[in-house]
Amino acid sequence: MKVVFASNNLNKLREIEGLIPEGIELLSLRDIKYYDEVEETGQTLEENSLIKATAVYNFCKLATIADDTGLEVDALNGQPGVYSARYAGVHKSSSDNILKLLTELKGEQNRAAQFRTVFTLKTNDFTLQFEGIVSGCISTEVRGGDGFGYDPIFFPEGLSRTFAEMSLEEKNQRSHRARALKKVTNFITNEFSKIG
Ligand code: IMP
Repeated sequence: MKVVFASNNLNKLREIEGLIPEGIELLSLRDIKYYDEVEETGQTLEENSLIKATAVYNFCKLATIADDTGLEVDALNGQPGVYSARYAGVHKSSSDNILKLLTELKGEQNRAAQFRTVFTLKTNDFTLQFEGIVSGCISTEVRGGDGFGYDPIFFPEGLSRTFAEMSLEEKNQRSHRARALKKVTNFITNEFSKIG
């Protein structure tokens, strides 16, 4: 079965490519010749995930998945959350976002945080959402050169290495995105095996 991943983020695409089971053929936006940038106008991860999946599904009419992810920091009442990409400003980089977060948390003892991903699966018959969470804490400095986004400042629970100090496979064993995607692919595999 063909499933389109509605994201232009090549880091995300690379991560999920390693997690797709046999029987599902993952297509990128480039594969379906979708070149628009979908505007994320929602107030929640759920809304933005739905907006992306719907825009692409309406274009191709193939089963489509989209994710929206946020870093939710306890000491900041769950911020930056849905605004994670624009935390330091609309045209700022991940390094700017990290710098802003570390500055906000300077001297803060409570560094607990979680990554939360919401996947939307949109097909002819279903519009469903699946959540994945990884708890952890925010480091006091940038560590590691792998991964993307906030990975260099996030220690997943129980580990003293950030996501950016791990291989893709290690991150995928415990990440928010991998956990949410597992629910999506289990659903697809179960549901579509019934149809044959
Ligand atoms: P979005 O889901 O593409 O809207 O991502 C929101 C923000 O979170 C962006 O700044 C991403 O770089 C960041 N982000 C998304 N997923 C991850 C991840 O797995 N690790 C670290 N940062 C992430």
